Amino acid sequence: MCGIVGFIGDHQAAPILLDGLSKLEYRGYDSAGLAVRNGTDPAEVVKTVGRLKNLAEKTDDGKALPGCCGIGHTRWATHGEPSQVNAHPHVSGNCTGSGSGKVESEVVGVHNGIIENYKELKEKLIRNGYTFYSDTDTEVIIKLVDYYYKKYIQDPIDAIMKTMVRVRGSYAIELMFKDHPGEIWAARKGSPMIIGVSDGETYIASDVPAILKYTRKVYYIGDLQCAKITAGDVHFYDLNGDEVTIEPTEIKWDAESAEKGGYEHFMIKEIHEQPKAVEDTLASVIKDGAIDLSECGLSDEQIKDISAITIVACGSAWHVGMTLQYAIEDLTRLPVRVELASEFRYRNPILDPRSLVIVISQSGETADTLEALRLAKSHGIKTLAIVNVVGSTIAREADNVFYTLAGPEIAVATTKAYSAQLAAGYTIAVHFGFVRGTIDREQYDAYIADLNTIPAKIQKILEDKERLQWFAAKFAHIRDAFFIGRGIDYSTCLEGSLKMKEISYIHSEAYAAGELKHGTISLIEDQTLVIGVLTQNKLYEKTVSNMVECKSRGAYLMGIASYGKYEVEDHCNFVTYVPSIDPHFSASLAVVPLQLLGYYISIARGLDADKPRNLAKSVTVE
Ligand code: GLU
Repeated sequence: MCGIVGFIGDHQAAPILLDGLSKLEYRGYDSAGLAVRNGTDPAEVVKTVGRLKNLAEKTDDGKALPGCCGIGHTRWATHGEPSQVNAHPHVSGNCTGSGSGKVESEVVGVHNGIIENYKELKEKLIRNGYTFYSDTDTEVIIKLVDYYYKKYIQDPIDAIMKTMVRVRGSYAIELMFKDHPGEIWAARKGSPMIIGVSDGETYIASDVPAILKYTRKVYYIGDLQCAKITAGDVHFYDLNGDEVTIEPTEIKWDAESAEKGGYEHFMIKEIHEQPKAVEDTLASVIKDGAIDLSECGLSDEQIKDISAITIVACGSAWHVGMTLQYAIEDLTRLPVRVELASEFRYRNPILDPRSLVIVISQSGETADTLEALRLAKSHGIKTLAIVNVVGSTIAREADNVFYTLAGPEIAVATTKAYSAQLAAGYTIAVHFGFVRGTIDREQYDAYIADLNTIPAKIQKILEDKERLQWFAAKFAHIRDAFFIGRGIDYSTCLEGSLKMKEISYIHSEAYAAGELKHGTISLIEDQTLVIGVLTQNKLYEKTVSNMVECKSRGAYLMGIASYGKYEVEDHCNFVTYVPSIDPHFSASLAVVPLQLLGYYISIARGLDADKPRNLAKSVTVE
């Protein structure tokens, strides 16, 4: 997590760094800082606690910091509380007060990630005369670079490589050496970092939106590589210090997609971008009425040979996996397991050699999902990644990649990437089913026709958002909410409940409706909000019965039902309808009112829906 940026060129660095950080604030926002060099002067560091706007105010939007070379950081604390002294940048020498001011040290740097062996390294450095002013693991890595730099040949590459060999954990670091004005040094292992170059200027960032406005030519620095960055140029080196060539990637996202475009929050903008995200993702593989997954590299022969599927993901992507489990099993008759990446990787899983592991990650950098992918590959299992960010680590390492075309997603709570992942998964389910002969041509054509209706149907739901806004205002004060459903509706509940929790801070639970009476129903009190998702025709009556059981114990019932099921109003206090669709795909529609509900309740409670407390997007630490 955390966002890092760097700039070197002809323009003043600080305003560009602040602008870049504002696009990365979704990655962390408990404190922020800059270090800028003016010519050969030592770097000047400014740090603040809290949101980025504090740093912008302290530096007069960056104007108060002269110099065309600098690095910046917005933090999501892992080691040491969010405070000014723990905020980055960190320095190799001593620091006065809370860390802002001119830097007399040799090395100043920022870091994204976790140094696992920081304690042992810290002790070694203390034995060698270093003193520490912060509680961060980052200060250790900066001082270790300084130690090797001074001990050996005073060469940044050598010092960085020696450090990389010694540290365990994940990191993307940017460093400036006092002896090397006009240079920024970067290195990474595990944590993401990109370098963009355009006309005499070079940009560094954790993620594409931060530099989209300036350049589309982007280099993905490899694991255990370091880079020397100068104005308009970059050179890469491997662990031996030998120069390596990296080809640039052309980013196709448009710059506006990383702006709010008149919306109050990225989240509501991204909710509205869902029809396009789904349409583009479907259109990338549905051609002339047929699904073509050849670009993902999966041949029909390979698909026929698959014995089982394991889907591995975290958070909302895991919910996508839960939905796809129902759809893929039903359409292909292949056994599907859905695993949390953080559990899967430590469980010594039994994987059939002919199985397929599908990993799902918006950023393509999710640490646990990446390790799960590596684990599957180490077993010799074929892997397919559903990823949104082109060139990301998961995309580079998976055997096959299905790119969702959601564009950049900035809000911490995912919406459009989730919908695009579902769309990608449906095409896999239908295609696999057809290739394996479990669905016939007529069903195949009907499924594809239905899939193509999803974008317009999401649009229709969005047109009805005022009712949900009204409802949200009425229920903004609640303490608990319960989401219940069966089958695919249950998987939609998991996502709706997470949306409520993460941005509204309301305790909520998602339950398979039939499970309620095995315990949870004891939590239902007078006026407890129970939201039932009712899109599965076969299960509709059963879920309604479970809702009514709650109502008998005082619950207030909200229903999400398909058009035509109007009798649900006899039971529910409030109903939202979504268009009808084949039940395999209904999660794509039923989730939209739940996203809107989470968003509007968050707003009604006066919260920042884009940046919920304690959370960050792209979880690049374990
Ligand atoms: N581990 C570092 C810290 O706690 C960096 C965290 C981050 O990636 O923001 O300061």
